[in-house]
Amino acid sequence: MSNRAYNFCAGPAALPEVVLRRVQDEFLDWHKKGLSVIEMSHRSDEFVSIATKAEQDLRDLLYIPSNYKVLFLQGGASQQFAQLPLNLLPQDSTADYIDTGIWGQKAIKEASRYGYVNVAGTAKPYYYHAIPRQNEWKLSSNAAYVHYVANETIGGLEFDWVPEVGDVPLVCDMSSNILSRPIDVSKYGMIYASAQKNIGPSGMLVNIIREDLLGCARLLCPTTLSYKVAADNSSMYNTPPVFAWYLSGLVFEWLKEQGGVAVIGKLNKEKQCMLYDFIDASGLYSNSINLPDRSWMNVPFCLADDRLNELFLTCADERGLLNLKGHRLVGGMRASIYNAIDINAINALVSYMAEFEKEYG
Ligand SMILES: *Cc1c(COP(=O)(O)O)cnc(C)c1O
Repeated sequence: MSNRAYNFCAGPAALPEVVLRRVQDEFLDWHKKGLSVIEMSHRSDEFVSIATKAEQDLRDLLYIPSNYKVLFLQGGASQQFAQLPLNLLPQDSTADYIDTGIWGQKAIKEASRYGYVNVAGTAKPYYYHAIPRQNEWKLSSNAAYVHYVANETIGGLEFDWVPEVGDVPLVCDMSSNILSRPIDVSKYGMIYASAQKNIGPSGMLVNIIREDLLGCARLLCPTTLSYKVAADNSSMYNTPPVFAWYLSGLVFEWLKEQGGVAVIGKLNKEKQCMLYDFIDASGLYSNSINLPDRSWMNVPFCLADDRLNELFLTCADERGLLNLKGHRLVGGMRASIYNAIDINAINALVSYMAEFEKEYG
């Protein structure tokens, strides 16, 4: 056993220990080739086999239909906020955006630089504690696409439904909940996710895009940001983030070994239930998100007395429960419980919270 702590960081987030050990084992001498993965040409047979297998495993995990491309890109989700309109929002046209929190707002702000943004739905009237139902949305008649954030990592709001937008391409930021439970890829025009929450190391982003959406980039779109260029070059127009790609591939393998996304989804359901049930039953902790909209991945909570926050975090650290401090914009606490966080970590967290409440609550 190792002395690794339980790490509830929102991102870069905990990764499965067995994966990290495997990386360590094969780091200096990958598959007896005499060199490491980060020292080989991305165009070598060896790396191409790593890249291809990672893509195939992701396709298997999410049942990605064959008319979708899987792209491994750089720049993170924040770059997609600009890259998306550069590729899919023609000059002088409109895109619909749903505002459910800080990430949704960042996407809106960036897209507004490239075209008209219609904020078709917003959680603002609910103080970002509930997701507006679709019958409250005002979608435009001619949107180039509809964008939403499936899981607001900071606010702790998650869609447990998929918007119905007819023939308009549905575009989704799934950075913090991709691979956490089954999804129907065919409902989307494009799905993107930064790697560092539920996939692998930072520095990489996965983009799953329907083929008919390729090739519409604006003239001014930089070559390195064109989805079509990426697709035509198997995400190797220029040097890709090889280490992140390789390690993400190992996480995909690990997920398959766990039984796939349906199995991990059941575990995630159990994990979040345990934590929210405990919070709801306690007198010291609270979470005020509308029940059906609570995130399975990021659980924000407050202590009844803010003056206990410092002590709560210090004692947690001492017990090896790390990174429970809430985002600087919302305060309080947040436990991020992605796929790599197992039920033992939730048990440890809940026991600690109960003891702390007994002592100071
Ligand atoms: C983390 C996160 C981002 C930003 O990702 P970067 O890789 O830092 O650009 C965007 N959207 C969501 C939902 C996130 O969780």
